[in-house]
Amino acid sequence: MSEFNLIEIIRARTAQSRGDVVLGIGDDAALLKPPAGQQLVACTDTLVAGVHFPQGTAPQDIGWKSLAVNLSDLAAMGATPAWAMLALTLPKADRRFVETFADGFAQLARAHAVNLVGGDTTQGPLSVTVSAFGFSPESRALLRSGARVGDAVFVTGTLGDAAAALRLKQDSGLGTRDPSNEQARSELLLRLNRPEPRIAAGLALRDVASACIDVSDGLLADLGHICEASGMGAVVEADALPLSSAMLALFDADERRAFALSGGDDYELCFTASVDRADRIAADFARLGFGAARIGRIVAEAGVRVRDANGNAVEPPRRGWQHFAP
Ligand code: ADP
Ligand code: MG
Repeated sequence: MSEFNLIEIIRARTAQSRGDVVLGIGDDAALLKPPAGQQLVACTDTLVAGVHFPQGTAPQDIGWKSLAVNLSDLAAMGATPAWAMLALTLPKADRRFVETFADGFAQLARAHAVNLVGGDTTQGPLSVTVSAFGFSPESRALLRSGARVGDAVFVTGTLGDAAAALRLKQDSGLGTRDPSNEQARSELLLRLNRPEPRIAAGLALRDVASACIDVSDGLLADLGHICEASGMGAVVEADALPLSSAMLALFDADERRAFALSGGDDYELCFTASVDRADRIAADFARLGFGAARIGRIVAEAGVRVRDANGNAVEPPRRGWQHFAP
């Protein structure tokens, strides 16, 4: 297996056509034609083995997730995805690994009509860098900086499932004594390994949200980014956090709250919108199949505070994932 055999495997397994790809994989660079009048939205994210996914993660899941985390960033901008690039570093030229990796990548790429248009293939410790590109109508992208005092804070889907799944992997006996938990365990693991980028939600929010971010590092950390960028603060109602039935089946109240507030890797969208739109948002999102829960509000005082049903402050255990943290 040479570098060029591997590239050919990736090309063949991800192949699909888009009219705006003039030249894809095969030359020194791709030739792409963004639609007239739209802005190009670009992002990149790296997954390193042992940091972003546990060693031993199935290659098809790594392939899916490496694209998913990027499409999630496009979703958070309200962009329509179009193209991706893939820089793959592999310890060895493992044909089977590359085939299954490419299949997982292609499965998600096809679901969103994303065309892999180029990349790089090198030898070294396993690491995957994907760049994704999409389009947004002129000055309609969703930014972190538009939240205003009184806005309602929402989050799509459910929170904390990926962090809960990671706990299941670390403590493999957890929840296994009761066979009826098997379904819940596999639902949580799916949320960790196969995150669904909320593209449809991002598009629906274009004319609705005042600010938006995807929850990759934990709700408190990411809502904190909206607050900083907007010069605001937020109050979150701990009892309003949306939790999956799998989470409810396997973890107690304290653990659930910790996962939902600080667990990373959820890839849901956290967004803000003026209160007079709040009721319509909840109704509109119910139709998308994963819903949007109203979890708090934007305030003038900086920082993110969490309260319980009695109005008492909730102190979360840890404020999200950070590289280079002391
Ligand atoms: P160069 O040496 O000119 O950078 P490469 O030999 O690295 O070219 O790549 C040849 C072609 O294959 C290029 O079009 C490149 O974008 C594409 N390519 C290389 N690696 C990958 C990959 N992992 N995924 C997708 N395309 C790739
Ligand atoms: Mg190269």
